[in-house]
Amino acid sequence: MTRYSIWSLARNALTWHENWPRYWRSPDPRPEYDVVVVGGGGHGLATAYYLAKEHGITNVAVVEKGWLGGGNTARNTTIVRSNYLFDESAALYELSLKLWEGLSRDLNLNVMLSQRGVLNLAHTLGDVRAGRRRAEANRLNGIDSHWLEPDEVAKVCPILNMSRSLRYPVLGSTWQPRGGVARHDAVAWGYARAADARGVDIIQNCEVTGINRNGDRVTGVETTRGTIRAKKVAVVTAGHSSVLAEMAGFRMPISSHPLQALVSEPIKPVLDCVVMSGAIHVYVSQSDKGELVIGAGIDSYNSYAQRGSFHVIEGQTAALVELFPMFSRLKMMRSWGGIVDTCPDASPIIGKTPVKGLYFNCGWGTGGFKATPGSGYVFAATVANDEPHPVAAPFALDRFTTGALVDEHGAAGVAH
Ligand SMILES: Cc1cc2nc3c(=O)[nH]c(=O)nc-3n(C[C@H](O)[C@H](O)[C@H](O)COP(=O)(O)OP(=O)(O)OC[C@H]3O[C@@H](n4cnc5c(N)ncnc54)[C@H](O)[C@@H]3O)c2cc1C
Repeated sequence: MTRYSIWSLARNALTWHENWPRYWRSPDPRPEYDVVVVGGGGHGLATAYYLAKEHGITNVAVVEKGWLGGGNTARNTTIVRSNYLFDESAALYELSLKLWEGLSRDLNLNVMLSQRGVLNLAHTLGDVRAGRRRAEANRLNGIDSHWLEPDEVAKVCPILNMSRSLRYPVLGSTWQPRGGVARHDAVAWGYARAADARGVDIIQNCEVTGINRNGDRVTGVETTRGTIRAKKVAVVTAGHSSVLAEMAGFRMPISSHPLQALVSEPIKPVLDCVVMSGAIHVYVSQSDKGELVIGAGIDSYNSYAQRGSFHVIEGQTAALVELFPMFSRLKMMRSWGGIVDTCPDASPIIGKTPVKGLYFNCGWGTGGFKATPGSGYVFAATVANDEPHPVAAPFALDRFTTGALVDEHGAAGVAH
């Protein structure tokens, strides 16, 4: 693999930048692998990378039905933070944030992590209590989150409408300075390139159509490019997780919903932090290109179509204009949707399944982009050792029978 550096840039300048190698190879699938990872989103690619890097398991294929990052990974609003309420979630998302902080160097590709800070606004007394509680819980877990009073919020984000006469005035906010945004497709490409360099086969346009079993043990997958045998199969297919579970003969407590986002025309820099409001349902940051990246809540119906309804966009833009009247005359350039895999307790499912050798990592819902590195890291360990990584253990599928749920609806349910 060519290492990206000032020297490789200079060397390639001599040949007019025409000879840069491809990021990854595109091999045909082999008949058998030690591990087949199903799903070439960020989580699947990160899993393959850490299997190779941390556990020396390189006889691995990532099979993706479309193109890398064509799922939620490159459709999200890229918010990264770790200020979740419960200890279990804080450990998972903070592990992830720490990995984010070294990721560009680790992958030798700039994932453009911008730790510009994240505000989670409070608009009601209930919001204020929940926000304060969460900030205190975060501090106990060593997470850099704290509570801001309205005058402090105005200092962090001067263009925010702080009028008390708003229908839902801003009564305060949590603030995580280490939160921010990253470049989503670079995350998929970075993991793919680094995994490929360690020998992982990345196979696009290869849909898994069946999961093969011998009794209660997985033996491989059927794909549109033939049968692939595998000792272990790791499924990381987000909104299609319940479809894959059905292929393996069991049910997942996942419901799939459209979630959409939109971007405005580019404008000069006006917003240097991420602003999120769970209560009135809008999230906004400004991209390096100057566009406002705006997210909303899910459509309430189930769907596999990667688009959402207009009334959600209407509510989202009304909320945006209430918080930022100066954005009222901005033109919106494009909108899109992804299919998010929501769990009853708004926490992911990571680990073993009733089928031996078959593992699932899903249920990240509206907020899994921020977890990409940590999710791949703990899932790779779980697959490699056939034993849940300690940070992943509370997120096992059996919590839906034991009742040990990790209810993160406040921190994750409607937020990203
Ligand atoms: C509009 C929107 C905004 C969001 N905003 C945020 C945010 O700001 N912050 C945040 O943290 N999270 C956010 N999220 C959530 C986040 O994007 C996801 O949780 C995360 O990207 C999931 O990554 P993944 O790799 O698991 O899934 P994906 O990237 O969806 O990857 C799954 C892959 O599996 C493939 N696949 C499915 N079925 C098969 C099959 N049968 N065979 C082979 N391959 C298959 C799909 O093609 C897909 O590429 C948002 C999501 C959306 C849609």
